[in-house]
Amino acid sequence: MEMRDQAKVKELSDRDLNTIVMLPQHLLCLKCLQGGGKAEFMNRYCLSEKLKIIQENNDVHVTLQAAFDEAGSKTPLYFMQTKEERKRDLDVLQKLGLVPGDTRTARDLLSRVEERIPTLEGICTYDSVYEDVWTQCPLACKGFYEKSGPITALRPPEEMKKDKVSSCREIDKADRLVLRPHHLLCTICFIGSDRNDIPLEEDNLYEVWVKIRENPDIPILITEGPGDCMVCPPCHAFKPERGICVASCHLRDRKKDLDTMLRLGLSPGDELPARELVARIYRSIPTTKGICGYDTDTAPEWTTCQSVPGKTYEKGLKRGVFSGALHEEMINLSRR
Ligand code: SF4
Ligand code: SF4
Ligand code: SF4
Repeated sequence: MEMRDQAKVKELSDRDLNTIVMLPQHLLCLKCLQGGGKAEFMNRYCLSEKLKIIQENNDVHVTLQAAFDEAGSKTPLYFMQTKEERKRDLDVLQKLGLVPGDTRTARDLLSRVEERIPTLEGICTYDSVYEDVWTQCPLACKGFYEKSGPITALRPPEEMKKDKVSSCREIDKADRLVLRPHHLLCTICFIGSDRNDIPLEEDNLYEVWVKIRENPDIPILITEGPGDCMVCPPCHAFKPERGICVASCHLRDRKKDLDTMLRLGLSPGDELPARELVARIYRSIPTTKGICGYDTDTAPEWTTCQSVPGKTYEKGLKRGVFSGALHEEMINLSRR
């Protein structure tokens, strides 16, 4: 099988086979449950089972269902839920920037919960004198939510270390590099960073830079996605068994790959000498704006990389992938 075809299989979506349905408020209830809280409704909604599914596979897809559809019309759930339950679901959706019917991985949803919902105030408790009209959840003030630990986990550090060693060995021996296109630009950002003389534990940008610097004519095979990219193996967000990236930038990185290929005149599977690719970068990508940074961050999936405002990429271009005459040649290309 061609490497390109293998990558397709490796990076395949499992959403059609691996999705559970949940009420948005139950994302919070999972935390109460994990923190030791118990309530009858948790059995009714099989929350222990759902917690187990998520703990076993943090990247299971979760479709959020509520008493209203995304246009505010009533769904059958409306007739089964209390007003408190309906409000809780909408509170959670509003705080997470989502609407009924949205699907995200459990990892992404729970990370948004951690970031945006530090307390249950106003969601499960009410600051109201009409206590007899709006009923609080009995678990709300018991501290179970606050007590709960993380439900999702990063890759075990020992696995990352093992993959760092083997992938660095592979880069060292390689007579060809395999890179996803936007990692060519990340290599430039790495060069422009304050710590560009030390290898990083969780990616191989340093090693790739050294290899290119010392072998300007080494061929680079362009691979769309993380599955075969030589930068990804030691990363905390890399899932080697599926060849996918589970970092929050997973989707926008796909667009970065395509935008980079567009600017550099590349297609997946192209193989060019490093020197030629770097020349194209100097000629056509003076800034990562429009690839890694947007005029407006429209959603958590579409946020600007934190390296953009600091102009790390521009600094990297100035410092140079190469040195001496070859670097001068690149700088001259950017002036044309
Ligand atoms: S306090 Fe809120 S989050 Fe916790 S179990 Fe009750 S409804 Fe769920
Ligand atoms: S701005 Fe961020 S994503 Fe873009 S090339 Fe630099 S480090 Fe990579
Ligand atoms: S965040 Fe994703 S794309 Fe970036 S190095 Fe890690 S696995 Fe690769």
